Amino acid sequence: MHKFINLMRITIKKIAKAISLFLFPPLCIGCRHYSEKRNQLCTNCKNSLEPVVSHELSITNTRSATVYACARYSGIIQKLIRLKNYKQPQGSYVLGTMMAEQFHTIMHDVDYIIPVPLHWTRRLWRGFNQAEIIAHTCSLQWHIPISCPLVRIKKTPQLTKLSKKDRAVVLSNCFALTSKALREKKCYKNTTVAIVDDLCTSGATVREMSILLYSLGVKEVRVIVAARTC
Ligand SMILES: [Zn+2]
Repeated sequence: MHKFINLMRITIKKIAKAISLFLFPPLCIGCRHYSEKRNQLCTNCKNSLEPVVSHELSITNTRSATVYACARYSGIIQKLIRLKNYKQPQGSYVLGTMMAEQFHTIMHDVDYIIPVPLHWTRRLWRGFNQAEIIAHTCSLQWHIPISCPLVRIKKTPQLTKLSKKDRAVVLSNCFALTSKALREKKCYKNTTVAIVDDLCTSGATVREMSILLYSLGVKEVRVIVAARTC
């Protein structure tokens, strides 16, 4: 009798799973075709990404930062990044997972992960900060703590339509060190930090942040993004 009940339980579970897969099939977030994992990229979409090599971004005359990106800003990755403009955080979770997997081996010596801060008004409007979602995913995978020593003090317009020169002007002095970071300056001395965001375009945002981070005593700044345009 006991065996029969167990068999019934297993059969019901299997039927329920089959019905759930039929009604709610796991679809790729990029192409909406059937995928092994729900809300992730399928193999075809992953293979369609255009890889880019890392590059050195000049910060000052003597300092630079290496920018690591999963892919060039086009196709599926562009689509995922743009989801944030429609207040949909799902894209950022997928990007975070992708970045955490791809850069796992080169981030083992990083001391802090630093998400690019949003101005509080934009964060309130959007409901989330995509860089924070990515940072949390990477932090869990890499076992590296998140630190937020910077705050965005200037509200900037949408940067996508601005030229490289205009971006630099708009972004100058738009970040500041928090009073906590200034009080705990010694925690950052000689550390390696990774700035994370979804997209790097002209590099102006990262440059502004890096100048402040180097002033805290940081030894090396790395930049990890899902995509870059340059
Ligand atoms: Zn797909």
